[in-house]
Amino acid sequence: MQVNKLGDTGLEASRLGLGGIPFQYITQKETDEIIGAARERGVNLFYTSRMYRDSENKIGLAVKGERDQVILGTSTHKRKKTEALKEIRDSLANFGSDYIDIYSLHNVLTLGVLREIMSPGGAYSALDEMRNAGYVKQVGISAHQPETILRALEEAAFDVVEFPLNMVDREAADGLMQELQARGIGFVSIKPMMFGYATAASPALRYVFSRKPDATIVGVYNMDELNENLDVEAGGGDISEEEMLAAIAESERKCFKVFCRRCETCVECPQGIDIRTVLRWYEYFDRYHSWDWARERYSGLRPNLEACDNCGVCERECPHHLPIKREFARAKVDLLPRRSAKRLLQKKLLGR
Ligand code: SF4
Ligand code: SF4
Repeated sequence: MQVNKLGDTGLEASRLGLGGIPFQYITQKETDEIIGAARERGVNLFYTSRMYRDSENKIGLAVKGERDQVILGTSTHKRKKTEALKEIRDSLANFGSDYIDIYSLHNVLTLGVLREIMSPGGAYSALDEMRNAGYVKQVGISAHQPETILRALEEAAFDVVEFPLNMVDREAADGLMQELQARGIGFVSIKPMMFGYATAASPALRYVFSRKPDATIVGVYNMDELNENLDVEAGGGDISEEEMLAAIAESERKCFKVFCRRCETCVECPQGIDIRTVLRWYEYFDRYHSWDWARERYSGLRPNLEACDNCGVCERECPHHLPIKREFARAKVDLLPRRSAKRLLQKKLLGR
């Protein structure tokens, strides 16, 4: 197992870590078995969230007796200081530990949420206070948009960032990682399996490892999944552009999803619509449930999808044959303001 420094935190993490989502759905015995086997093959990073019910508890029991050899991370989606303080105390009790290695602010979706967190009564001050008191060793943040992370780094001292990095979400690799490295901030990549849409572990994980995040976390439900991921990590090896594109196409076919490759060959829409950008926003809307984030951006777009006259040029020219007209017909309704009468009426008419 390759072990990497997690930025300047002083922590050294296995580049493959285990995420906490599955542990809430399996038994303690199964969790013990998975974590025990992962430990034997060098995994030392276990990262979960307060949202994943009893996962902290199960992880804590599974690593009992090995506390100084593992890195435990968790996160809170609470935005207020008082609530976040309670969350940290609960996490300490659940893990059965007097410290937590990384405590993160979970899924900071918009700049508005970030403002709330960073305000004097916001959750960041709880994490900072607990870091100063030694109960939290490193403070982290997870988000799905690079601009949210970059703004957060301007405003406060974060030690670790969790951000999606996978074959279709390459933004992290395209700039954010360099920024984090320059600042000595640890980077734990999340969603390596394309939010569950990857149909095979090997290309998905090889892509992520090829971008060299400090670590990546993957949730596994059973020993087969664990062993498959560990074998990919042990095997190493890069991934070619062709193999990556084939893997994305396979996921599209099996999952009925559309993944824009953000390639350079996109046509200029005769109506002036920024096709790649709208597709990206809509993917985030759909895949990461970044509803308000996508709507906020779309509301400022000129020209917007109302200008689309269905000419089909974009589809004909897209080398990946994406059903752009279909996606835009859906996006045109979904990206309207949440309470707009037009959106509600259209949804009713479309039976969605
Ligand atoms: S050509 Fe297709 S895949 Fe490439 S950026 Fe445009 S829509 Fe996306
Ligand atoms: S179908 Fe719509 S988005 Fe595509 S090129 Fe024509 S006008 Fe532009």
